[in-house]
Amino acid sequence: MSRERLERVAAALRRRGYDTAVAATSAEAKAESLAEAESFSTIGWGGSETLKESGVRAALESCGKEILDHRTDSEIFFLSANAMTEDGIIVNIDGTGNRVAASIYGPKRVVYVVGRNKIVSGGVMEAMRRARNFASPPNCRRLGRATPCVETKLCADCDSPDRICKVTVVFDRPPTRTPTKVILVDEDLGY
Ligand code: SF4
Repeated sequence: MSRERLERVAAALRRRGYDTAVAATSAEAKAESLAEAESFSTIGWGGSETLKESGVRAALESCGKEILDHRTDSEIFFLSANAMTEDGIIVNIDGTGNRVAASIYGPKRVVYVVGRNKIVSGGVMEAMRRARNFASPPNCRRLGRATPCVETKLCADCDSPDRICKVTVVFDRPPTRTPTKVILVDEDLGY
């Protein structure tokens, strides 16, 4: 994806009320994340391969702040998105709901780190399809779930007791009391 396309997505996000940054590399995203965390003493995050792959998580872990994993009472909460439209709508799917809960209300600030591979050219339905077919199946595999998508790599909208797709949240705008920043990274990160 060209830098130009990411800048267009960032402009769409700004129109919706998000703070934004575009990072050419994970290293830039890491520096931006550390700057975001600087004035807060407790940091939380949602389970995210993007945060691991980009090195953001390791950087935050080693910056001397208190880490409150998956907690809504952290001052600043980091996560990624399962999918995002080019015009700035974010889609996230959870099983427990703690990740999306913390991204809606609780922390003083929320920061998304989003690789270019999460951005879809269609609308919300395509973003949901991406979340179900590209994000959830590998997450089921990683978590050792006995769901059909582990074998087929495609969502069957299953009735499995192991299903992780239970709460789908569509963000049209940042929630009223939760200032939110999106750091778009010009790399493929997570799934
Ligand atoms: S609904 Fe079931 S089959 Fe579909 S992605 Fe989620 S866990 Fe997998």
